[in-house]
Amino acid sequence: MIYDALGVPRIVNAAGTNTRLSGGTMDAEVRAAMAEAATACVDMLDLQAAASRAIAAATGAEAGLVTTGASAALLLGAAACMAGLDAAAMNALPEAPARSGFVMARSQRNMYDRAIRVAGGRIVEVGIPDRFSGAGVRDAAPADFAAAFGPDTAGVLWVAQPWSEPPLEDVARVAHQAGLPVLVDAAAQLPPAANLRAFLDAGADLVCFSGGKAIGGPQGSGILAGRRDLVCSALLQLLDLDLPDAQFVLPPEFAAAGAPAALPHHGIGRSCKPGKEQIAGLVVALGRFVAEGDAPRAARLRARLEVVRDAMGELPGVAAEITPGPVPLLLLRLPGAAAAAAAEARLRARRPAVHVNAARLREGVLAVHPHALAEADLVPLGKALAEALPG
Ligand SMILES: *Cc1c(COP(=O)(O)O)cnc(C)c1O
Repeated sequence: MIYDALGVPRIVNAAGTNTRLSGGTMDAEVRAAMAEAATACVDMLDLQAAASRAIAAATGAEAGLVTTGASAALLLGAAACMAGLDAAAMNALPEAPARSGFVMARSQRNMYDRAIRVAGGRIVEVGIPDRFSGAGVRDAAPADFAAAFGPDTAGVLWVAQPWSEPPLEDVARVAHQAGLPVLVDAAAQLPPAANLRAFLDAGADLVCFSGGKAIGGPQGSGILAGRRDLVCSALLQLLDLDLPDAQFVLPPEFAAAGAPAALPHHGIGRSCKPGKEQIAGLVVALGRFVAEGDAPRAARLRARLEVVRDAMGELPGVAAEITPGPVPLLLLRLPGAAAAAAAEARLRARRPAVHVNAARLREGVLAVHPHALAEADLVPLGKALAEALPG
């Protein structure tokens, strides 16, 4: 095992597909595609065109690109909204884009929106998130977005969560009335698989997904999908374009009216380049994710949690419950936040270290997330929980 050879301890990842904990694991078919891709060379433009066909089939988008993650897709999406198909504007990024403002609801601000600023964009916050402060019921309204639009606005950023306000349809309507594109961060909004299409159907011009989360692709992969002209712009800002203009021909997957005749310089996305192995792995993983279907996937993940729960057994003072939904979780309710924090620390101190999901620690709840668990982890994890939780 490579990690043993490197002297790197393995962990049991019951926290989810967190980047810090190396994402998830990949099916044999995805691993095989990556290994095979590494044995031959191709033109990366042809490979991204094939990926675009697969992404278009899965999402309903006009075109798509494989990036090095949802964060890279956000960066490239922002660059596409700012520069369009203007090669000079691409070359100027990240400095002084003519249009750089990305209007977003203040309640949707998050640490990943930095990708917009890396590309040269500015975040313009609107709305007062009263419903989060407990002071009222309101959040940003479509009219707040419309009022913030100006000549230097490049687009709208909308961060997808089941509770996001205002609804994407309403934001897209006011953005499109002003001729502005809507970029959606849906990095972790899968499953349900229907979300591959839902945001584009609701009016998004570009949508970003992580490849290394529920899709089950390589940890360092992501998807940017949407309007062909914007994806074409992103492609031109991602690819290595070190060739004479005359040798560059846009494949039909990306061909957009107004594409620059003269190639831009290496773009702002040059440091977001996926390898052929990541692209091959992601395309295979995406096909498998769609083919499996939500109900069989939920049943498969639930079966993992049942093995963990059964190996753990009944523990006094611990209420165990497997939640319904597309990603079932094993919730372990302890008598209070302090007990949960102590148990979480004991699990992390074990060798191998056990990482559970601590998002609800304040409520006294530890969650076992099934996505990143390997089959061989399940029984040892149940036994580790039995030892570490108060009994
Ligand atoms: C995980 C996540 C990202 C980053 O995705 P990567 O694929 O790791 O780059 C961005 N936004 C949100 C909301 C996320 O949950």
